[in-house]
Amino acid sequence: MPLDPLSKRFKIFFTEVLLQSKVREKRFPGIAHTLIFFGFIAVLPHTIELMVAGIFPGFRFANLVPGIYALYAFLADILALLTLLGLVYGLYRRVILKPKYLTNGFDSRLILLFTFFIILSFFSVNAFRILLYPETLRDLIRYYVVSYDISQFFDLENLTQQQLFIGLEISYWIHLSVILFFLVYIPGSKHLHILAAIPNVILAPLGTPKSMVKTDLEDEDIESFGLGKINELNWQNVLNLYSCTECGRCQEQCPADMTGKPLSPKAVVVDLKDDLIQQSSTNGDTIKPIIRDGAPITEDVIWSCTTCRACESICPLHIQHLDFILEIRKNLVMMESRFPDELQETFSNLEYQFNPWGFAPETRAEWCQGLDVPLMSDHPEARILYFVGCAGSFDERGKKIARAIINLFKKADLDFAILGPEERCTGDAARRAGNEYVAQQLIQSNLETLNNYKPDKILTGCAHCYNTLKNEYPQFGLMTEVIHHTEFFVDLIQNERLKPNHKLEETVTLHDSCYLCRWNDMIDAPRTLLSAIAGLQIKEMDRCGSKGLCCGAGGSRMFMEEKIGKRINIERVEEVVATNAETVVAACPFCNIMLNDGLKEISSAVVVKDIAEILDLATDPS
Ligand code: SF4
Ligand code: SF4
Repeated sequence: MPLDPLSKRFKIFFTEVLLQSKVREKRFPGIAHTLIFFGFIAVLPHTIELMVAGIFPGFRFANLVPGIYALYAFLADILALLTLLGLVYGLYRRVILKPKYLTNGFDSRLILLFTFFIILSFFSVNAFRILLYPETLRDLIRYYVVSYDISQFFDLENLTQQQLFIGLEISYWIHLSVILFFLVYIPGSKHLHILAAIPNVILAPLGTPKSMVKTDLEDEDIESFGLGKINELNWQNVLNLYSCTECGRCQEQCPADMTGKPLSPKAVVVDLKDDLIQQSSTNGDTIKPIIRDGAPITEDVIWSCTTCRACESICPLHIQHLDFILEIRKNLVMMESRFPDELQETFSNLEYQFNPWGFAPETRAEWCQGLDVPLMSDHPEARILYFVGCAGSFDERGKKIARAIINLFKKADLDFAILGPEERCTGDAARRAGNEYVAQQLIQSNLETLNNYKPDKILTGCAHCYNTLKNEYPQFGLMTEVIHHTEFFVDLIQNERLKPNHKLEETVTLHDSCYLCRWNDMIDAPRTLLSAIAGLQIKEMDRCGSKGLCCGAGGSRMFMEEKIGKRINIERVEEVVATNAETVVAACPFCNIMLNDGLKEISSAVVVKDIAEILDLATDPS
């Protein structure tokens, strides 16, 4: 139920809608927006009073609730003044700063102008009223502090009664006309978000972790998989589209956009909304596909996404961009067989060899030969199942990381085992590349194996395996706890089962994997682990934590060529190098591969290490 639990929804309403907390994550525009929002709310009762007084002359809220009205008058006057500050900043941003990501058209400027008129006419109505009706409003004069000062500043006291009356009438009609024009204009403008945003925020998914939309492949009534046409959106998708303020925060954070790809998450939302409006009068077979000749959303747009979730994480309205992008991918792959050529081989490898590179599945445990690593089939009572993943099993860097993890298990004297040839890719790469069919085959197969052994914990060193097993396998029935090696090792250090007593004199920076920091809120654990190691000096990159920059591998981009724009891993390693750190620490083998490639390409001497490798060194007795 979207309203369950109500208390959390109420908290979101209070903090994010009323107090605008998420909007202020971007400081100056956020403060400006908050001031305008508060000012608007503050002016509203006053406007209602004016409207009612137009029909019933002499109507005053002040007569109904005098004490409260005095407080309201004071606050409204101050907030309206602060709104002017917000508006001036908004104008400065649109006329002088003009950030690339901000929609800065006629519509936005017109709305700013409207708001100026509303606030200015609010003051002038009050300034004339308190002079024209000193008897009835006498007590309020001292509360309308700003309006009264305005009347003094312009010497309105020297006007005749008739002049004051004309001034009041003009202000009154300007105020009401602008408000009424505003109400008519809003539904057709981007400011419809004023109405849609509140329910959208309140009904948004709770918490950060999320899974991809599960498609029921057995349902024979489903005619189309994924999102192919605009009429296939559900009500929450539509509410998302109408909520967008076009603030551009998502675009500013998007690694695809910043490296010159054709994808802007903001544009995807706006283009889908435009498509929805354009095609709203058509129905049935006449509705055109979202991706069609001449449409702004192209295949290049859809395949540029790394699924990093920077857009969703920063969006103050909780818009779920990936519910659109990944569902469009699913439709392209499953209904149209349209996908980048390189994925053909990946899909086939995943389907027949159960790993994206096409290694023979029976060689999956060769990486640990000679290390005395038990298989679950030989040691089914093991309580910790180490899910190695495809990178740990087959990639040279991944294998080294897996060996470091095994070393740490042994140092902590843990009872563990791996699946070896019984393990298959989790399905992350296939799912995010739109191939739900292959993904679900892999998931079902792994699920059968995992449910057969029923370990207490599944541990993995890969951010993608972790996210899929933890957040997506439960959709298919997995009940076992899933843990990432970073948080697991933090626990072992805190319980003194691992003692990092070997000092490492090294300057490191930390690369946050998107699938840890943004898909699963895991920001503190790697920092806690690194700070437990003596001698390490940690230098954060400019973009870190929930704002960390993607390495470019997610969303199956690892298996596609990056033909357009600058490579995302180069953008990231340039930030690494700027810290002057000797080592960049990652906690995902895919990030490790991408960072290594990037550093090699720019001929940097910075070394990439997994967090397990660092801990392995720090717990080395030698
Ligand atoms: S999707 Fe969210 S972050 Fe992006 S422009 Fe719209 S409101 Fe702003
Ligand atoms: S998930 Fe990442 S790459 Fe995809 S649109 Fe959002 S910010 Fe851009």
